[in-house]
Amino acid sequence: MNDNLSLLQLEQRDDFIQRHIGPDEAEQQHMLATLGLTSLDELITQTVPKNILLEQAMQLGDAQTEVDTLAQLKKMANQNQVFNSYIGMGYYPNFTPNVILRNVLENPGWYTAYTPYQPEIAQGRLESLLNYQQMVIDLTGMEIANASLLDESTAAAEAMAMAKRMSKNKKSNLFFIADDVHPQTINVTKTRAELFGFEVIVAPADEVVNQDVFGALFQYPNTTGNIYSIETLIQSVADRKGVTAVATDLLALTQLKTPAELGADIVLGSAQRFGVPMGYGGPHAAFFATKDKFKRSLPGRIIGVSKDKRGKLALRMALQTREQHIRREKANSNICTAQVLLANMAAFYAIYHGPKGLDMIAKRTQRLASMFALGLKAKGVELASAYFFDTVCFKTDAKTQIIDKANAAEINLRSDLDNAIAVSFDETKTQADLAQLFSVILGDEHGLDLAELDKQATEYQAIPDNLQRESDYLSHPVFNTHHSETEMLRYIKSLENKDLALNHSMISLGSCTMKLNATAEMIPVSWPEFANLHPFSPIEQAQGYKQMITQLEKWLVEITGYDAMCMQPNSGAQGEYAGLLAIRKYHESRGDSHRNICLIPSSAHGTNPASAQMASMKVVVVACDEKGNVDMQDLKQKAADVAENLSCIMITYPSTHGVYEQTIREICDIVHQHGGQVYMDGANMNAQVGITSPGFIGSDVSHLNLHKTFCIPHGGGGPGMGPIGVKSHLAPFLPDHPVVNVVKENADNGAVSAAPWGSASILPISWVYIALMGAKGLRKATEVAILNANYIATKLADHYPILYRGQNSRVAHECIIDLRPLKASSGITEMDVAKRLMDYGFHAPTMSFPVAGTLMVEPTESEPLVEIDRFIDAMIAIREEIDQVEKGVWALDNNPLVNAPHTMTDLVDENWNRAYSRELAVFPSPAAAANKFWPTVNRIDDVYGDRNLICSCPSIESYVE
Ligand SMILES: *Cc1c(COP(=O)(O)O)cnc(C)c1O
Repeated sequence: MNDNLSLLQLEQRDDFIQRHIGPDEAEQQHMLATLGLTSLDELITQTVPKNILLEQAMQLGDAQTEVDTLAQLKKMANQNQVFNSYIGMGYYPNFTPNVILRNVLENPGWYTAYTPYQPEIAQGRLESLLNYQQMVIDLTGMEIANASLLDESTAAAEAMAMAKRMSKNKKSNLFFIADDVHPQTINVTKTRAELFGFEVIVAPADEVVNQDVFGALFQYPNTTGNIYSIETLIQSVADRKGVTAVATDLLALTQLKTPAELGADIVLGSAQRFGVPMGYGGPHAAFFATKDKFKRSLPGRIIGVSKDKRGKLALRMALQTREQHIRREKANSNICTAQVLLANMAAFYAIYHGPKGLDMIAKRTQRLASMFALGLKAKGVELASAYFFDTVCFKTDAKTQIIDKANAAEINLRSDLDNAIAVSFDETKTQADLAQLFSVILGDEHGLDLAELDKQATEYQAIPDNLQRESDYLSHPVFNTHHSETEMLRYIKSLENKDLALNHSMISLGSCTMKLNATAEMIPVSWPEFANLHPFSPIEQAQGYKQMITQLEKWLVEITGYDAMCMQPNSGAQGEYAGLLAIRKYHESRGDSHRNICLIPSSAHGTNPASAQMASMKVVVVACDEKGNVDMQDLKQKAADVAENLSCIMITYPSTHGVYEQTIREICDIVHQHGGQVYMDGANMNAQVGITSPGFIGSDVSHLNLHKTFCIPHGGGGPGMGPIGVKSHLAPFLPDHPVVNVVKENADNGAVSAAPWGSASILPISWVYIALMGAKGLRKATEVAILNANYIATKLADHYPILYRGQNSRVAHECIIDLRPLKASSGITEMDVAKRLMDYGFHAPTMSFPVAGTLMVEPTESEPLVEIDRFIDAMIAIREEIDQVEKGVWALDNNPLVNAPHTMTDLVDENWNRAYSRELAVFPSPAAAANKFWPTVNRIDDVYGDRNLICSCPSIESYVE
């Protein structure tokens, strides 16, 4: 039947583009016809302002097949040399339990979910995150923990900001950092302090007693492994009403007295070594714990316990009112995307091993360290400290020779110390590794007997008496049950079953771009050549990474129209921070340090004002007109009013209202005329790629959310990558890194993340996506994203008002459904509609952002027509249900909307007294019945949860009632 096709045509059947894009050609034609159009070109011409259309196609090459792309990437990966790492410094080799690797990290049921905004269909990952918080609370000894932050260094910077908020030493502007904290943490924290206008002193820890500080940061054990009591130091800070943060290590805490017992106010660190690969820097979850009295000032997300309508225990994100999307520039931090997937992995690791297993891992790690220390001592080598957990530091005049020998033996030791080398052990190390280390450091003839060292080590006291751990940890049943693989597998699956992810149905969250995360894109993430590199490995060993990242940067430069990229920020919000930092430095370099005003349209995402605040900018809000566009009169007026001090504008394009504003070029011009810079929020790049670009439009800097437009999955709330693109005049102000130089010329610039290339191990996802799509495919994706959104807007317009439209009544890649009129006429709210959608098997669109009382729908190009039609049908059916309430057929307090979502408990309720049938409740449409998704709890009471804040695992009995 295919006889008349050429070989080339037959091969094209294997084209990835048509797999990534949901609707096929015929369906696209059908959808275009619905819009009264005949071609995608026509749609684009109608929709996108003419003066921003790219004049030529992107230079990215042709689409490649999955087989060829992965083969090419594998070749690059093979150029990475995976040496055995003893570098430490916050990153440790470990074993990801295979049951977690395959069923969490590599499982779309976990990695394609979104931040649990709709908790009734997210109880699985909420439970897992609660376990994570409990684990952190237990190990640190603190009262409350969040889930989670981006990395250890930014967690330290957040701790500093929190110390400033909480300290009663209001007259002090000084923050103290002990000089034995990890160098990247010192650097990131100092960079942040400079922006906030704090003074920082970095000095030996015991000098804190001489300083009048609002806060201090110590590390325990310290960066070279030493353990000493910081109790009196913390006390001296407290005596001055300062707040103390302690960076620490979860595995070490199984053996050490908790920071809480030493008096710490905030405890932070990385959970990486709990089963998460090093990945050349990430992604990993940072943990952050504090005292109960500071809970309202805690940055990041906290999972809390509440109850549902039936009084059943249910989980949700607590204290949301502290967050950036509500409090904007007054928020505790700009953290939005965090590291949920990795926090889940760490929690599962603790559950799988349990307290006994973790204790064994810690003791074995420490035994090897002790044997190593004893061996060196026996050979007359001087140790830097007598006490340690896993890291032994020794003095040497032969550093270069030893490092060279280590290199020849394919092992990496920590080499950045003066006349000293540090060696960090971990759960993967063996006796054979130890023997090899002795040979490298002492020569082959060292003559040490490992069995003898083992015996001596049992007597050796590596932890001082007063710092031994005596308190219990992980005593909750969840950490003491799932130790066989069968049980673990079932526990993971039982949680997965409670969550709606992209492998069930479309998640049309506007501004979040929940598109396909193709399997081929995900596969390289767990290749050992990418997964097992330490971020501070010598750059010669990371040539594969270097090639891949350089090529990705080039592609992104082409896509954005900028001149340079910086791959360090771990989220969109961190990208905003890095971009504003570059703008500030640019102004300073021109003697314009007074320029500190940031214009932000009222429609902006909450991270924009929160980031501006972090960069010590003053936010001036620009109004929007009734069509949702920036009010040009107001902009002109405000830009002129503040001209002298104008730093920049932060603007999202297409606007967060889902419209291509006509005046975007003019907006850029006005800001430039007054000496300001343009920061274009790139979260909506999915409506630009191949059609226009921020650089082409006239912007100076943008972050790209690779976890939106470029296919990195959302992981249930992270990981993410928020690299920034800049025009050449800003390039000298991009972040660098204190341990690994990223750009030669920028060597003195401060870092914004712990690792030089952020979460490097997920960059292959975006690399594979671009390679598979090529220039044509990427443009096509944008076009179909716009088509899908316009199709939905057109089909739903007869049933709901569409709030904003651009030229020719077209929307961009998303549209806002206005539910306020219906609320006025029927009493049914956007919340009711969102929850009722669950009964129909869908995740709600973005609720009440950017406009309260609305839903913002972004289907993306990946959703096929049949799914889009199912969603439209569900929305129409819901509209008919609202009709019944309007007409009084159903009372406002007894209808399927206000009682949604419905659960199996409803189905078996003997006292069913609703005005509608059980069938309508749970199987409202044939499509919903055919592929039923069961919310596991009824609607959750948010107010109750915030009033009775509980952020640790409830006792088992409370589940039973
Ligand atoms: C998602 C988003 C952000 C923030 O990105 P994170 O990675 O979550 O920090 C910023 N601006 C807009 C418009 C967004 O949609």
